[in-house]
Amino acid sequence: MEKITVSIVTIGDELLIGQTIDTNSAWMAQELNAMGIWVHRRVAIGDIREDILAVLAAEAALSDVVLMTGGLGPTADDITKPTLCEYFNTRLVQDRETLQRVLHMFESRGLPILQRNVDQSLVPEAATVIPNLRGTAPGMWFEREGKIYVSMPGVPHEMKGIMESYVLPRLEAHFRTPAVVHHTLITSGMGESFVAERLVDFEAKLPPHIKLAYLPSYSLLKLRLTALGKDKLSTATELSLYFTELRERLADIAVADSDISMGEVLGQLLLKRNKTVGTAESCTGGLISSWITAISGSSAYFKGSTVTYSNDMKMKLLGVKQATLMAHGAVSEETVREMLAGALDVLEVDYAIAISGIMGPTGGSEEKPVGTVWIAVGNREKSVTVKYHLRYDRERNTQMAAVYAMNELRKLILELEPEGLN
Ligand code: AMP
Ligand code: MG
Repeated sequence: MEKITVSIVTIGDELLIGQTIDTNSAWMAQELNAMGIWVHRRVAIGDIREDILAVLAAEAALSDVVLMTGGLGPTADDITKPTLCEYFNTRLVQDRETLQRVLHMFESRGLPILQRNVDQSLVPEAATVIPNLRGTAPGMWFEREGKIYVSMPGVPHEMKGIMESYVLPRLEAHFRTPAVVHHTLITSGMGESFVAERLVDFEAKLPPHIKLAYLPSYSLLKLRLTALGKDKLSTATELSLYFTELRERLADIAVADSDISMGEVLGQLLLKRNKTVGTAESCTGGLISSWITAISGSSAYFKGSTVTYSNDMKMKLLGVKQATLMAHGAVSEETVREMLAGALDVLEVDYAIAISGIMGPTGGSEEKPVGTVWIAVGNREKSVTVKYHLRYDRERNTQMAAVYAMNELRKLILELEPEGLN
């Protein structure tokens, strides 16, 4: 087994000023990691000749493979191609296949073609051309002095096509990569330092090729075990022994034994119990139902939701009493209780989630500061209400509130119906 190292170089002025977020290197790193290829460095640079030349030399000195994206567009700011020619001491030549693809692309769309589009088919003579089936700029593969360099377009969708169809399979064939197996346990209700205390002796006995990572995510904590080995099957078998022990040790706080979303966790619980759910959402504006319906097959248990943002709609659609709103306000235990009762009734569901809160940055008061959220979950027999104080920005507060609410319902379902049907 060899340890192969990769440097990822993303090129583009827009990345440096934060106008475009560099999602390319995150995606590439995940794909490479899943194949057992170690990403050594990630470097972002501008469309600057001297910087591109310097970074290529520096990264090739450190890593076996240098993967680049960006700077291949038809406009003057994109200079990766001529700079690669300089670096590899080669010249641009026309690639017939690429030219035909570009011509066809414009013809079939009825668009006039410009010289700068035709020039997309010029490639450094030293490169192996990688077809880009999703755009005009082809990928380019170079080998020199035992190092591999790949240049790809910056457009994420085009880069992914080139990586999946060509680069990843070629790297796998070129190197003997180790098998990598991950297994994730999701827990809730205990902070990472407390969980780490409980796992001190478990971690101490992990062999060096098995690693445990703590990944806090909103109110949940993901524990990811990763094993490296010779082949997938034996590595997975070995990992499953450790995973079983991890799950047993944390049985009281375990939520799921794979890396799935809260929408999927709730969906599986409801499906196994043949129960339905609906939501009455104020501050989350439908986010909870959006997460539930992100799961294919959710129509088996999700019936619908009311997004009742105004007091009027809370009264009209859910039957919340005006007196309740006047006395306690929209963000109150009493209001979410009535929203819950209304949702169970109107949506004709077994379980419902009701939520109302102040997500900020405006709208807070001394009595109810920004981040105050009331949640009610329940069925016709039992309901639970909880108040949270969130302390982040609007977007994160909203997402946290949605996770908390879904987690409350998960806990209640398990309490009321511990056993599923199968
Ligand atoms: P380019 O190949 O430089 O013409 O890039 C085309 C477009 O791809 C840019 O305008 C960006 O919107 C996008 N892009 C470039 N690099 C990245 C990156 N690292 N991550 C995400 N998007 C990118
Ligand atoms: Mg660019």
